[in-house]
Amino acid sequence: MKLILIKYGELTTKSGNRNLFINILYNNIKKALDGYDVRIIKNRVRMFIETDDNIEEITNILKNIFGIHSIVIAHRVNTNTEEIESKVLEVAKNMDFKTFKVETDRADKTFTIPSMDFSRRIGALLLKNIDNIKVDVHNPEYLLKIEIREDYSYIYEKEIKASGGYPVGVAGKGLLMLSGGIDSPVAGYLAMKRGIRLECVYFESPPHTSEMAKNKVKTLVEKLNKYDANITLHIVRFTDIQEAIYKNIDPTYMITIMRRMMYRIANKIMEKNNLLCLINGESVGQVASQTLTSMRVINSVTSVPVIRPVACLDKLEIIDIARKIDTYETSILPYEDCCTIFLPKHPVINPDIDKAIEYEQSFDYEKLIDDAINSREIIKIKKDNKKFDI
Ligand code: ATP
Ligand code: MG
Repeated sequence: MKLILIKYGELTTKSGNRNLFINILYNNIKKALDGYDVRIIKNRVRMFIETDDNIEEITNILKNIFGIHSIVIAHRVNTNTEEIESKVLEVAKNMDFKTFKVETDRADKTFTIPSMDFSRRIGALLLKNIDNIKVDVHNPEYLLKIEIREDYSYIYEKEIKASGGYPVGVAGKGLLMLSGGIDSPVAGYLAMKRGIRLECVYFESPPHTSEMAKNKVKTLVEKLNKYDANITLHIVRFTDIQEAIYKNIDPTYMITIMRRMMYRIANKIMEKNNLLCLINGESVGQVASQTLTSMRVINSVTSVPVIRPVACLDKLEIIDIARKIDTYETSILPYEDCCTIFLPKHPVINPDIDKAIEYEQSFDYEKLIDDAINSREIIKIKKDNKKFDI
């Protein structure tokens, strides 16, 4: 039986919300490890997972759960010197190292040997029983930690760094505007890392955009599922609105108006589903619709918070994250997006809000928006643990 110790991340600093944080993290871990034979035990200081199942796979899944600072594979024994010593030897003999250091943390002060003395004693035991190793207190290859608690003691095998952040859901839920591009999946990932649970909305314009473009977005949601299982995706048919824009709006303002329509729809879906904010992949200055003036004209159709996690990153920084979270290769598949069809040659860079409002009067967009929302397809993209490349 192995034991995985989960060390909490930033949540330890938020003592007021501690129970909420721990409960959400607990549920997230439970959901993520669905299908594995595990027993999860939580207390205020940390969480433990007992398992005989595939430890490698389990740790790889846990590495992506936000709110976990680090994971320690540990062995649990009763708190007495003989048991600790014999387990230490067994663990250390199976590890490959030349230099080591022992650190003892004695939480149970009734245990009579002081920490320093106990570390020295265990060090001597290792030196006597394992050949060609020596102590290095500054930069050891193997840091053997022993935690002595009242009933049980823990012998750490190794500590693995996890993702940190806040447990997904702690900050509430938001609606991610997810296109098939590079930026929005990264925005979604960063928002989840701050504890925001996602639903996603994708605007499609069939027959101008293809089934393949839609599948690409589903694949992106699947990849985001690594951080929070079973994300809901709203697929909105944007064709009628887009055709109305094409027919009625001055070409230079087409993108501005199109994005105002997207925001209006996203806003309504958000409200219907009790979500708290919108999230998107806009990055200041990246394209004409993302100048500050454009953003202001577009953003003015809603008063809810719009979180733009990649607003101040440059493209290369965004691409680095996209690679890390394995969305990049999917994002660069060359399927048309509804933003790129009917694309005018010279979109306005500094749109005027009164002009935008005036142009919009040329068609009955309220009805088209309601139709688009009412006919949306809602799907849950299921997490498949075995499918992820972890
Ligand atoms: P991305 O790489 O994420 O597609 P982009 O640089 O191509 O972004 P735009 O196409 O202007 O920029 O879109 C800006 C943001 O608007 C996107 O990051 C996304 O959040 C949202 N968005 C754009 N198109 C769609 C769409 N078809 N469905 C849902 N959201 C969209
Ligand atoms: Mg795009």
